[in-house]
Amino acid sequence: MRLKNVFEPDYYFENAFMVSPSFLLSRGIGVLILDIDNTLVTYADAYPTEAVTKWINEMKQGGVRLAIASNNHGKRVDTFAESLDVFTVSDSNKPSRKAVDVICRRFSITPDKAAVIGDQIFTDVLCANRAGAVAILVKPLPYRENLFFKFKRLLEKPIIKKFKHKHPDKCFAKGENEK
Ligand SMILES: [Mg+2]
Repeated sequence: MRLKNVFEPDYYFENAFMVSPSFLLSRGIGVLILDIDNTLVTYADAYPTEAVTKWINEMKQGGVRLAIASNNHGKRVDTFAESLDVFTVSDSNKPSRKAVDVICRRFSITPDKAAVIGDQIFTDVLCANRAGAVAILVKPLPYRENLFFKFKRLLEKPIIKKFKHKHPDKCFAKGENEK
């Protein structure tokens, strides 16, 4: 039985694009479930940036299968995902585990072979842990956030700090001084 704190990620990356196919595959992860907002792009970007498209192509070529699970609505998600050709679940209600279950059924895998990558502990990480998937937390992309988000970030802070302190080997940052 896993006695992991439901708010604790398995890995922390400074940004999603640092995650490589070999990192995932060497850990038995064949399916990567992507959050969109503040993970891949900000709310201001309707379409994938060049960096997103490049990274997604690298993942596919490296043998990682991809899906999107976003709490945003259908139109936003469909517009974003159109050029990427990945399976999408919009209005996914994370932290509900439902989207992970739907995606795992679609790819015929068990949740432990999937990772959820996202910028929020109380939606993305909690969703992954509830489903029994691997939780990869990333630092949110810089964007002006409203008060509700600011409050959530405040609550996330001590959890991230503790995780970085406890598991420096599971944290990947560009600059060591950021840890
Ligand atoms: Mg997000």
